[in-house]
Amino acid sequence: MVISTMGDSVAPSLSLLVSNVSTNITFFYTSENKKKSEILQAYCQKRFPETEVDFLEIPSIAMPSKIVKYAKEFMSDKNEKVGVFLTSGAKQTIFPFLINSTTTTTVSLIHSPLRIVVAQYPLPSETVSVELFLQDLLASRGWEISDEDGKTLKRGDLDISGISTIFDKERGLLSFTGESYLLKTGNEDKIHSLSPVEKNKIKDRDQITISNLTLLSEFFGRNGANYVIKGALRSPNRSVLPHFIQHMLNCDACGDLVANEDAMMANGMTRCPKCYDGSHEEPYYKEEE
Ligand SMILES: [Zn+2]
Repeated sequence: MVISTMGDSVAPSLSLLVSNVSTNITFFYTSENKKKSEILQAYCQKRFPETEVDFLEIPSIAMPSKIVKYAKEFMSDKNEKVGVFLTSGAKQTIFPFLINSTTTTTVSLIHSPLRIVVAQYPLPSETVSVELFLQDLLASRGWEISDEDGKTLKRGDLDISGISTIFDKERGLLSFTGESYLLKTGNEDKIHSLSPVEKNKIKDRDQITISNLTLLSEFFGRNGANYVIKGALRSPNRSVLPHFIQHMLNCDACGDLVANEDAMMANGMTRCPKCYDGSHEEPYYKEEE
């Protein structure tokens, strides 16, 4: 059997399931992840009926001595070989299990490309490549893409539109990106000349995008995915943006995305640092059509 903690990120747990390195997996979760674990459990029953998957609640990460005690007791009555999955969740949570393990089998997820490595000292390690698909990642946290342009996410009666979801298969990174209202309507250059009515409307629209990203973070974890809002944002939305949402702008010269805090302004235009200081190796301006 393999034991693992359930972390914020979706890719590790799913990689472990998909890899088939074990048909008996136990996921530990803390009360903070209870909702996510219930969703994953339902998904496993449907998607991996052949695999025996158990979910056990462990003490909170705030109580390390309780985790140590729990790990000792859990491992003491295991007669079979137990592999410890190291790539998911907080290290403080899984190390007590590893320390109390009588075998030294560790299981890790490595990216670029994604693969599971089983190390069983002194035997040579074993590598299993893993391919994950966006719809499985979403489904394991209870969501699906519900339209053809891929920008509407659905969970039961909940519908979220205007968010692009991308999965980087090499690195195993999930990203949710929304556009600011000014970008969506092609009005970024009017940010300093808006009427009070327009300002209010923009504020409300952008707040919807921000709250949609926040809602997704409750399912995919603040540290488990990238959350991005792209395009010009006005204050107060810009200044009160939750810390886990990145604000990105398009460079007006090369079109690359640049983090808001790295963006430079030149004659009222947004520039990425490379266009600003002219250090682009390739010509950065686009040919006129
Ligand atoms: Zn640029």
